[in-house]
Amino acid sequence: MAETRRLLILGGTREALDLARRTTADPGLHVITSLAGRTRTPAAIPGELRVGGFGGTGGLARYLCEAAIDLVIDATHPFASTMAGNAAQACEAASVPRLKLLRPPWRAVEGDRWIEVPDMAAAAAALPGLAERVFLTTGRRDLAAFAALADTWFLVRLIEPPEEPLPLTRHQLILARGPFAEDDETALLSEHRIQAVVAKNSGGALTYAKIAAARRLALPVVMVRRPEAPAGTTVKDVDAASTWLRSRRA
Ligand code: NAP
Repeated sequence: MAETRRLLILGGTREALDLARRTTADPGLHVITSLAGRTRTPAAIPGELRVGGFGGTGGLARYLCEAAIDLVIDATHPFASTMAGNAAQACEAASVPRLKLLRPPWRAVEGDRWIEVPDMAAAAAALPGLAERVFLTTGRRDLAAFAALADTWFLVRLIEPPEEPLPLTRHQLILARGPFAEDDETALLSEHRIQAVVAKNSGGALTYAKIAAARRLALPVVMVRRPEAPAGTTVKDVDAASTWLRSRRA
């Protein structure tokens, strides 16, 4: 009988969940998904689950040895650049093959009014003079970049209630978990008289509706570009990741 290989999926995304669902059906794989632990109620993931940071590159390299990991698929979010960098270095150090699963970024299409910026500070700097009422969809950890904009009103959407008060002077908080529909996003933007949207270029279908809704209403989108992904083999979807796994086990 063929030996069982131990696969570590670095998760926190829809693709990581889909990959866990697919790979746990393979009796030749033992699948461990790792989450940072940011979401208090993550979706149920099949296979083994571990939660919390590894303790930097060295901690991850140690974990790879101790847990006898044969293969790593880094399916973290395109903006989780620290984890992606740590994974690249730790896999190199521990000689464990690593694949990056990275969904393609969104591209502007006709009718889009994107203002592309390199980071959150630049996104905040783009707002004065552009909009007084802004839909902010960047996630809780990026809100501080907008704290100095005391005259701007923000509609903030988070998945879970924050533990701390938001660092924004004027805002309304809504709680919701995607996917979102374009009609609903259009209604939300209209109802709150939003004048601009701030978004990360996350890519994927689950959160694209707000971008389509902004286009429909001819609103500008301040679009934060992705950080660079580490060098190495990269695929765009779960099918391609499965093909890589098969090639590694052949
Ligand atoms: P990050 O800035 O790249 O990582 C910060 C630290 O969090 C890492 O150094 C690592 O701690 C820990 N970490 C991150 N991902 C981990 C994982 N899958 N398993 C174990 N530890 C992990 O990451 P982030 O942007 O805060 O994202 C955290 C998680 O949320 C990731 O799983 C990501 O896929 C998910 N997520 C992020 C975004 C986003 O916009 N950034 C959006 C949706 C989902 P140690 O150094 O101690 O190992």
